[in-house]
Amino acid sequence: MMTAGLYFSHPACLEHDPRAHMPGHPDTPERLEAIERELAAHAWLGWDRRAAPPAEESQLELVHSARHVRAVRELCEAGGGAIDADTYVGETSYPAALYAAGGACEMARALLAGETRLGFCGVRPSGHHAEPDRAMGFCLFNNIALAAELAIRELGARRVFILDWDVHHGNGTAEAFRSRPDVLFSSIHESPLYPGTGPLEDAGSGPGEGYTINLPVPAGSEEELWLSLLEHVVLPAAVAFEPDLVLISAGFDAHLEDPLASCRLETGSFAEMARHVRDFAERRDVPLGMILEGGYRPRVQAECVRETLAALGGEGQARSAAAESPITSRAAAQVGRYWPL
Ligand SMILES: [Zn+2]
Repeated sequence: MMTAGLYFSHPACLEHDPRAHMPGHPDTPERLEAIERELAAHAWLGWDRRAAPPAEESQLELVHSARHVRAVRELCEAGGGAIDADTYVGETSYPAALYAAGGACEMARALLAGETRLGFCGVRPSGHHAEPDRAMGFCLFNNIALAAELAIRELGARRVFILDWDVHHGNGTAEAFRSRPDVLFSSIHESPLYPGTGPLEDAGSGPGEGYTINLPVPAGSEEELWLSLLEHVVLPAAVAFEPDLVLISAGFDAHLEDPLASCRLETGSFAEMARHVRDFAERRDVPLGMILEGGYRPRVQAECVRETLAALGGEGQARSAAAESPITSRAAAQVGRYWPL
């Protein structure tokens, strides 16, 4: 049987535990353990598992400054501590971050080498808040930005489409590519909410103007709105962009049970979004990789991941969402300035 996809992970990612410095921190190793337990109970849905390799420091510098990389390493080696009010590291956090970034990069390589059409990185610490020169929001290095940059600089991709469906704005990824026309970055996120960036009007800058699509949604937003924005705003732009690679910052914290945000997606909502992106990637014949970001009810997040991977693997048909909500119409008017929707 042909494998459904490749699942990248490494035990080192379980060794990063911010609770050593801040008891009660929501980013726990149990998040990954729950995913692996859930998938193991379902025979990994036919996906093959691969060990993530560690990223080289020089790979991190594809996106990050040498100063930032050194500062994180030295803080970890000195025993760790606080980087900001949310972001804590210990001695084992630096290796964990190297494997997380290395997994994302290795997934991009496997996808573009044609070894698989689908990939998932079950890694942590997550990455989408990490800016080129700064760690923040539980994130040390920007895993998805590193994968996209590697894909373009070294793996032959000309254009990469990044969808960020974590409930928080992917400010780090947005900053990494804000003035670039070879990465289409699109984020659906609750607003107002941490980190406070990502207004609809921010479309990127310079040669990258139009290549950033920020779609803030209010607290309480449900599946219908998220799907509507994806189907009627994000994916039409992505069709016109003609990417060679699709990457998803897959956070599951827009779930109604998540303690850090107030959107109201259900477990199956992530699978609904995945079906739309799956169909897009299949029609364009481009590979698709997901990288874990947030999601802070481990059991719920694990079920979301299982349903999402099943959907990516072909389960279920995409359902169409209404196009005429005021939020979708306003977003379409803004994004339609740059893309044929
Ligand atoms: Zn998040």
